[in-house]
Amino acid sequence: MKTTVIGYPRIGSHRELKFAEQKYFKQAVSADELAQTAKTLRDENRKTLTNAGIDQLPSNDFSYYDTTLDTAFLLNIVPKRYRDLNLSNLDEYFAEARGYQGDKGDVTALSMKKWFNTNYHYIVPEFDDDTDIKLVGSQVFDAFKEAKAAGIKTRPALVGPYTLLKLSAYKGSKRPTDYAAALVKAYDAVLAQLADLGAEWVQLDEPSLVKDQSEADLELFTDLYKPILANKHGLKILAQTYFGDVRDSYDLLTSLAFDGLGLDFIEGAETLDLIKSKGFPTNKTLFAGVINGKNIWKANYDEKLALIKQLPVADDQLVLTTSCSLLHVPYTLANEPQLDEKYKRYLAFAAEKLTELTDLEQILNGNGTDALKANEALFAQPRYEENETITKQVASLKESDFHREPSFEERAAIQKKEFNLPELPTTTIGSFPQTREVRRNRSKFKKGEITKEQYDEFNREQIKACVEYQEKIGLDVLVHGEFERNDMVEYFGEQLDGFLFTSNAWVQSYGVRCVKPPIIWGDVARTHDMTVKESVYAQSLTDKPMKGMLTGPVTILNWSFPREDLSPKETTYQIALAIQAETLALEKNGIKIIQIDEPALRENLPLRKSDWYSRYLDWAIPAFRLVHSKVEPSTQIHTHMCYSEFGDILDAIDAMDADVISFEASRADLTLLDQLNRDHFKTHVGPGVYDIHSPRIPSEKEVAGTIEKILKKVPLNNVWINPDCGLKTRGETETTASLENVVAATKEVRQEL
Ligand code: GLN
Ligand code: ZN
Repeated sequence: MKTTVIGYPRIGSHRELKFAEQKYFKQAVSADELAQTAKTLRDENRKTLTNAGIDQLPSNDFSYYDTTLDTAFLLNIVPKRYRDLNLSNLDEYFAEARGYQGDKGDVTALSMKKWFNTNYHYIVPEFDDDTDIKLVGSQVFDAFKEAKAAGIKTRPALVGPYTLLKLSAYKGSKRPTDYAAALVKAYDAVLAQLADLGAEWVQLDEPSLVKDQSEADLELFTDLYKPILANKHGLKILAQTYFGDVRDSYDLLTSLAFDGLGLDFIEGAETLDLIKSKGFPTNKTLFAGVINGKNIWKANYDEKLALIKQLPVADDQLVLTTSCSLLHVPYTLANEPQLDEKYKRYLAFAAEKLTELTDLEQILNGNGTDALKANEALFAQPRYEENETITKQVASLKESDFHREPSFEERAAIQKKEFNLPELPTTTIGSFPQTREVRRNRSKFKKGEITKEQYDEFNREQIKACVEYQEKIGLDVLVHGEFERNDMVEYFGEQLDGFLFTSNAWVQSYGVRCVKPPIIWGDVARTHDMTVKESVYAQSLTDKPMKGMLTGPVTILNWSFPREDLSPKETTYQIALAIQAETLALEKNGIKIIQIDEPALRENLPLRKSDWYSRYLDWAIPAFRLVHSKVEPSTQIHTHMCYSEFGDILDAIDAMDADVISFEASRADLTLLDQLNRDHFKTHVGPGVYDIHSPRIPSEKEVAGTIEKILKKVPLNNVWINPDCGLKTRGETETTASLENVVAATKEVRQEL
């Protein structure tokens, strides 16, 4: 038996890669210096893995930006507009990842998409009719050579040809199948060279297999792999899957000439059943993903051992590994000295997961009694003090707690009278620019340089100026600006019971950007008002309605590390009850419009469509409804979602039963609007009229044009006018100019009605 991992975090335990790249982009360090930092990080990873006793190390899991982009780049899948810039290889690569604006030209970046069901995002390779697939790069070879020079024979990892085709965009008339033959040739060239260099195993990542597979999909997979596996150049080829099971392709995978199959026993609900019922070929190695690569909890060894013992394979046919790359968890608990041992002993980040793999190996070899005993002792103790009030409250929820009365239509009539807003009411999504002063105020307070009173006073001044400004330009429904919030989840997590915060537990989100999700440790409970003071103060400054601003329960869950002992549904209901109490507190204090943001609602949608309603939306949507089910009919509930990619779950969005939803529409085409109309979407909508993700200022004429387009698709009475997301990351100048144009354009359109 052996141990390995699919991949390891690459950003550096103190985000060294991020800082080095930022310097490189500012031309403060050279390409050589950046390469040196990268090499140091790879050296450190190799040391960590070997010292932990991991038998087989992957290589080429390092990337300057994204491994999908790396694979495309290696194979010359680079659109002409980037090649035409005539930049160095590295800069051409970065131009694809981030766009380029300089003396060589002006191009936007390739698009970026969510990596399966994670919060990591990959760069979408682009194929067009001129794409000339061939091996041109060297990163995978360099990585192998570098490790070899350090005395380690690694297993080079690449995105496999099938997943590469599945994840890419097609700009010309050719379809994915048209590229199959050329891809086969290119992968063959890669394998030949790796064999020459002395590799033994090569890992081809094929996570796309865990999604629903059609006959045509499986045919494409076969067409790609039959010829590749017909000539392996003496290498052993591992087909590595993760994020689910391969129920549609198991028979195919076992029948093809792969030497190893990497299967996920954590998220793969049917993995164990598949191999038990269908058997596992004796001539292949099973890379069993038994250690969770996504969560941060220590594994229960008894459970893992029981699982491993059920695997129908011989010892020398088995490699213990993680369920996915460890990219999705932070580096190490060693960087969390301030976190109490009473919590830490239950946690395992990437480095600690390596120990779990080798512990299991040892135990199975009969040498790990101490580790097993310690683990059993840990799991024998109750981990949490239960908050009985909360668990009882969740247990006694009734169907009626999830339904708001009266109906949407009746509420709409009541609210129309209540607010008496003009046609096409204007508003914003919540946050206003977080200027340097706002951030400095927060950091001074956190460092203890100013008192809580001073901190609050500064924010009150910001709120005042923000309200005055909104009144001046003539917006109809105002916001307080969210100056007191660093992050829309952390702000609530810090005030609710049940959350833990780390100092350095960064996880890569895209490129070199990271997030630091809080950990849901115990039962979530609200102990005090969290947003009332700011909203009430803001409302006191104006006669116009002030929107209260909350983060919804599904987003709080999806942007945290969830508990393992409690289902996501139950945890989300706990959070929902806390946010419900805050909603009612706002209402009681005179806030009549309350926005409950759910930008991450779509994020944990299962990878298989057949699971969407039965395993996610069936509780995620009710959780949202629970938050607002008890408010008065005259209280108007808004929600906001960031991505307009919800055309396929419109029914579910409507079933959230909000009164108004704002969303990002400026980047989407208007087909979504067509659909809203056709599918009788009842919720009133504010399709963002300009893109806040760019500093560009939309002209009044442009915005008026957009509004008119919206009005062609959606009934006038249902439409709100707003930017497409919060303004937090924007500068003040462009924000002011853009909002003024939005208000002016709305007035212009109103006159023509
Ligand atoms: N209310 C939040 C804001 O304006 C919403 C942010 C989001 O959608 N991510 O910042
Ligand atoms: Zn948004």
